[in-house]
Amino acid sequence: MRLCYVLDVIGIKLRGYLKERAYTTPWVLKEIKNELLSEAVKGAVAQGLLRVREVRKEFLEKAREEARETGDLASLSEADLSLIGLALELREEGEEPVIFTNDFSIQNVASSLGLSYVAPPGRAIRFSAKWILKCPECGIKIPLSSDLNRCPECGSPLRRVLLRRRLLKDRGDLSSV
Ligand SMILES: [Zn+2]
Repeated sequence: MRLCYVLDVIGIKLRGYLKERAYTTPWVLKEIKNELLSEAVKGAVAQGLLRVREVRKEFLEKAREEARETGDLASLSEADLSLIGLALELREEGEEPVIFTNDFSIQNVASSLGLSYVAPPGRAIRFSAKWILKCPECGIKIPLSSDLNRCPECGSPLRRVLLRRRLLKDRGDLSSV
């Protein structure tokens, strides 16, 4: 497997494309408002240091599904989901993608999918989290992916609670890459 990077805006800012083969998506580029950075990106693309790739629908959908499962969907933009989707697609093509991001939700979904990521120092999550809906009255637990917002037993408003946290080892630290 060949190592490659999938960069979000911070990854591009920190010139992650100078490390290994690097990819990003058109959705991420749309989030770059800074003109200087935008020019730098054009330069990197022209030199072949940064490849911009669309993501196939099935992989975007898989990223969305997993984000719904982990409870991160509401905090992820289309650009965020496109990075996870692209990493899934690259993995399927036999690459070894590493997502370069400072976004905790992207990291959480990535870790849930078994995808590698790196973050700038101090911006890596140490735990992966799994969220669930719970009734504070009768304690009934419901997957976050359900459309319910009230308990089917007693009608109380459901709360989002942490189902479990898992310690992540040797992951997400730039210094370990
Ligand atoms: Zn209840």
